[in-house]
Amino acid sequence: MSQIVIDPEACKGCGLCVQACPQGVLTQGRDLNSKGYFYAQVTAQMRCIGCRLCCITCPDVAIRMRIHGTFYRYFQY
Ligand code: SF4
Ligand code: SF4
Repeated sequence: MSQIVIDPEACKGCGLCVQACPQGVLTQGRDLNSKGYFYAQVTAQMRCIGCRLCCITCPDVAIRMRIHGTFYRYFQY
């Protein structure tokens, strides 16, 4: 079972992950982070199929995936 975790302070609210998710797990939130961005939020975790498209798509590497207790962050160069 995978769990998606978005870091609100790393998110710039671009919405790319929301568009990329085939399951409608993520939404553009209505809360602002400290930089003034409406950060993305996980609103339907139960629909996640663990495809990682959101993690790969995020240009700011703000999304981590937790699989069997271990957090994975993708494409952080
Ligand atoms: S892993 Fe796939 S299904 Fe799950 S939130 Fe990310 S894009 Fe959506
Ligand atoms: S792709 Fe990354 S920066 Fe853009 S809204 Fe999603 S989490 Fe935020």
